[in-house]
Amino acid sequence: MSAVCVYCASGPVDQPYLDLAAEVGRTLAEQGHVVVSGGGNISMMGALVNAAREAGGHTVGIIPRALMKHEVADLGSGELVVTETMRERKRLMDERADGFITLPGGIGTLEELFETWTGGYLGMHDKPVVLLDPVDFYAPLLDWLRELSTTGFVARRSLDRLLITRSVSDAVELATAR
Ligand code: AMP
Repeated sequence: MSAVCVYCASGPVDQPYLDLAAEVGRTLAEQGHVVVSGGGNISMMGALVNAAREAGGHTVGIIPRALMKHEVADLGSGELVVTETMRERKRLMDERADGFITLPGGIGTLEELFETWTGGYLGMHDKPVVLLDPVDFYAPLLDWLRELSTTGFVARRSLDRLLITRSVSDAVELATAR
């Protein structure tokens, strides 16, 4: 059993994105994995944790006190940790996870993706960092980064550190492989 931190959107999104987040939560729970999240119950973050719990899973939410209202704190979480700062939230989310899965999201999600990804290729941790992208949401970003790798701004080795997949089951397998 592993704990997997899932990063995803906190804004209003279309049903297919909510369904994707729910499928990830359900799949993790059905396989006995703990879901670590930002502790909000809105948008994809909410779909993720609600589906995980409906499937009998354990969820750990970690949310800064100042965001409890804005992100609708997930009071039904198996464990809800309230932090005083965003940095503390991120540190605890990282510490509690054995692996990471990033789904489509906004700048908060991107920030979390880049932090765990860069930490991985710099050797600060050895946890799997997975990008689950079934609808090519991240294609423009990945195209740009691959282009940068031809100029030396981005090392090929760092691109290879990110495990990219279109499949929910593959994402779960990759994130829990350690
Ligand atoms: P977003 O992808 O912008 O919808 O945000 C998704 C989640 O990322 C939300 O829970 C935000 O609170 C969180 N977030 C926003 N900024 C940051 C940050 N600098 N570090 C970590 N998480 C963040």
